[in-house]
Amino acid sequence: MSTLKAVRGTRDLLPPETALWNRVEATVRAVFARYAFGEIRTPIFEDTQLFVRGVGEETDVVSKEMYTWEDRARAASEKAQSLTLRPENTAGVVRSYIEHKLGDTGMLQKLFYIGPQFRRERPQRGRYRQFWQIGAEVLGPQSSGAESPLRDAEVLEMLATLLDELGIPRAAEANGNTGWKLSLNSVGSATDRPRYINALKAALEPVKSTLCEDCQRRSETNPLRVLDCKVPEDQPIIDNLPKIADFLDEASTAHFMQVRAALDACDVPYVIDPRLVRGLDYYTRTTFEFTAASGLGTQNALLGGGRYDGLSEMLGGPKAPGIGFAIGEDRLILTLQALAEAASKPLISDKLDAFIAPMGIDQNAAALMLAKELRAEGLSVEVGDGSFRLKKSFELADKLARQIIILGEDELSTGFMTVKTFANGDQLKVARADLAAKLRG
Ligand code: AMP
Repeated sequence: MSTLKAVRGTRDLLPPETALWNRVEATVRAVFARYAFGEIRTPIFEDTQLFVRGVGEETDVVSKEMYTWEDRARAASEKAQSLTLRPENTAGVVRSYIEHKLGDTGMLQKLFYIGPQFRRERPQRGRYRQFWQIGAEVLGPQSSGAESPLRDAEVLEMLATLLDELGIPRAAEANGNTGWKLSLNSVGSATDRPRYINALKAALEPVKSTLCEDCQRRSETNPLRVLDCKVPEDQPIIDNLPKIADFLDEASTAHFMQVRAALDACDVPYVIDPRLVRGLDYYTRTTFEFTAASGLGTQNALLGGGRYDGLSEMLGGPKAPGIGFAIGEDRLILTLQALAEAASKPLISDKLDAFIAPMGIDQNAAALMLAKELRAEGLSVEVGDGSFRLKKSFELADKLARQIIILGEDELSTGFMTVKTFANGDQLKVARADLAAKLRG
């Protein structure tokens, strides 16, 4: 019988790597808490219409990449419902904001999430069909200040702080070879965009037949996406297309200037990228992307986000301007691993504090008891395998732990344990009362 494997584009995360995931998530939680974000957990599947309306029918995510199925009706009177595994989490958060009338509090909502997302993309390094995103959304009624450029800058400054605390250098300080880079743009308001799209369509009309097949289609269905095209032959043509910056109205221009001024004041470096329009339909005004030059190859987008002032209304809710982002957690981990490898520094110590080796069946219970006591004192401990062979115990202990505790008849009767530290080869007799301190050493 053939063995079953994880489905293409999905993967298992195993220890010790999961310790790194947990450490990243702990840092994320600590940083986000300092910026007054609370956690939201929305369902992993939603009504398909949420994404069709919220993300946009013409986007690649919705038109090609969703895992959608008809849920069987349970009774004849019930209609089958089309459900979708969430391909992103912003639409779900905004749905939840509307459903729970969070806007009625009058307060700004600052929400973050950590969880799996699903897209049927072509799997490659850094691109999976089940991947994890760490995201945050700031939204609220207009009176809460959700539309303020200060919020855009705060979110970007928080991201810079998070990446700093995770130990990913800034490109400016790492000669551009390993660090992160923030690209920034404004895609204008709901009124700027149609004017720009019309100009784009007009400029594309005479040249579109020379563009790649995808761009020929996008020119009709979603011309903004032409700007995302990576096909080398298309680049000179795309570089000559009109720029959104020339179509921003006064309010959008002022908004963007204020975001930039606040970033400058907070010492957050960025580059303006006039082609950064992002793949999802709901973005307005500020859009951004952080790329990392380490470990990601062609899939170098670490995180992306932007403002979505009309999304709540698109989902049938009240006016609730907002801004958010999603970090690709898989890519964040790949970046950290590549940086650690380049610096020849282990990322996580997966060694336990101690391995207890009972020397005979009579010491088994005492070994388990000692392990229980040391674990209660906060130490990580494994107990020997019961083979009672000193050489084998040492070999196993060296693989698993920083230290071995030998527990024989002698040790039990005297109350002094033999402890060997593998790093320096020291072997000492340690009184039971001093054991935890010694192991912590
Ligand atoms: P998006 O929701 O498309 O704006 O993506 C936000 C971030 O999620 C990207 O910058 C990536 O880091 C990550 N991401 C998106 N799609 C995938 C994928 N298929 N596999 C891994 N990470 C992804």
